[in-house]
Amino acid sequence: MRIALLGFSIECNRFAPPATQRDFDTRCWVMGQEVVTDARAASPKALGEMPGFVADMDAAGPWEPHGILLAMAEPNGPVEHAAFTRMMAIWQDGLEALRGRVDGVYCVLHGAGLTTELDDPEGALQALVREVLGPDMPLVCSYDLHGNVSDAMVRDCDAFIGYRTNPHLDMRERGAESAQILRRLLTGTKAHRALRRLPIVAPTVSLLTAQGPYAEVIDLGQAWAAEDARILNVSVMGGFAYGDTPFNGMAVVVTATEQNAAEALADRLALAAWERRDRFVAKLTPLEEAVRRARQSAVPLAFADVADNPGGGGRGNTMFILEAFHAAGIAECLVGIIHDPLLAEEAHRLGRGARFTARFNRPQGTLSADDAFSHPFAAEAEVVALSDGRVTGRRGIYGGTAMTLGPTAALRLGGITVVVVSIRAQCADPAFFEHLGLDIGAARAVVVKSRGHFRGGFDEFFGHDQIVEVDAPGLTSPILTRFAWTKLQRPMLPIDPETRWVLPPRG
Ligand SMILES: [Zn+2]
Repeated sequence: MRIALLGFSIECNRFAPPATQRDFDTRCWVMGQEVVTDARAASPKALGEMPGFVADMDAAGPWEPHGILLAMAEPNGPVEHAAFTRMMAIWQDGLEALRGRVDGVYCVLHGAGLTTELDDPEGALQALVREVLGPDMPLVCSYDLHGNVSDAMVRDCDAFIGYRTNPHLDMRERGAESAQILRRLLTGTKAHRALRRLPIVAPTVSLLTAQGPYAEVIDLGQAWAAEDARILNVSVMGGFAYGDTPFNGMAVVVTATEQNAAEALADRLALAAWERRDRFVAKLTPLEEAVRRARQSAVPLAFADVADNPGGGGRGNTMFILEAFHAAGIAECLVGIIHDPLLAEEAHRLGRGARFTARFNRPQGTLSADDAFSHPFAAEAEVVALSDGRVTGRRGIYGGTAMTLGPTAALRLGGITVVVVSIRAQCADPAFFEHLGLDIGAARAVVVKSRGHFRGGFDEFFGHDQIVEVDAPGLTSPILTRFAWTKLQRPMLPIDPETRWVLPPRG
């Protein structure tokens, strides 16, 4: 079995500044056979899909992997189109060189990519694979469940595999499942797909899979799939509202050995999702209430700054919660991770133990121009710890993944210790605090720049009822009426309460 391996993964928030080549270089940019060596490494740069795929193939017997390019970056704004065009040229050259020399293709995708010119870069990459290797080449694609599903994405693949966990913990399993399905395709199984898209852009905080309406729909899909041997995969794609595409909307995608089986299950599951439509809403805690709870709670609490989530394109530097907590004198508190390279650099220059006025988002440099929400804030501070920001994730989405945060500093502002980094990332892993010697277990309040992935990393410290989702302003606010949508189809729930939907008739 000779398999081509490639991928493009970034979640793009249309309201955030553009992502550049550097954002891929600093996260995961592996080419040629490095795709395979990285996947087999103890701490890969890639998230779990490719390592899971390669491990499953390795375990199944001899095979011949042909890596092309796997480019992954943290969520951001749309990718600069010129950078994406260069990537497309690399994939095209790689695929052309493999023409006649491979039996199948595995492609790691996110599904919520954008470029500064394209709404559907994933669809463009899938079409390129079809164009170069022909319509009959078995092609399995895996996606983050936050992907927005275009018709092209479903058309130009054989099997469509979406994550089933949020926070994301099943990337390796989905990679392994992709390998298993690809091997079936290589032995003659034919796959068919059905897509149902609903007019629901679920706020990110309503898409958890441990409990709630989304969990119920995913579980139903798995239960029904288990009853029918023709079903190869059921994916319920929650989508990513801030992508703001014409094809936004929760989507059910079923892959099956018979078209009718795929269509019937997709209908049934889409109806099950629609019946739960009124429950895909955000219930956030106002900032003043969060301050009160930080001061009075008998148990330690985690405060999620869901509106400034770098994992959704947020800049990781808004000051609303830090400023309010500092003004209120909240103590025994950790805040992280704040993206401010100038401040991190200054702390490194001053050295450990130095006292100075920490100026966040200072108006020179590039940071302050990031977006309307990143206001300056200054406070007296002491440098309590420094690092080069090289961290291996300990738990959750980044568990086992080699991360680099760039020069990093822990600053003490009164009773609050703030972790400042130079490379933007969401605060999903306790290692981001712990590698600086900070003790999460000793904190009374921990403020995380993360929407939901911190749940998978910090669950040792904070149970479900110790988490407060704070309503502060930001680029990833779950209050969707605050955004000036440009391409989202209307009416759309929960923005337009009058939205109606009926199952489309089957032709
Ligand atoms: Zn995601």
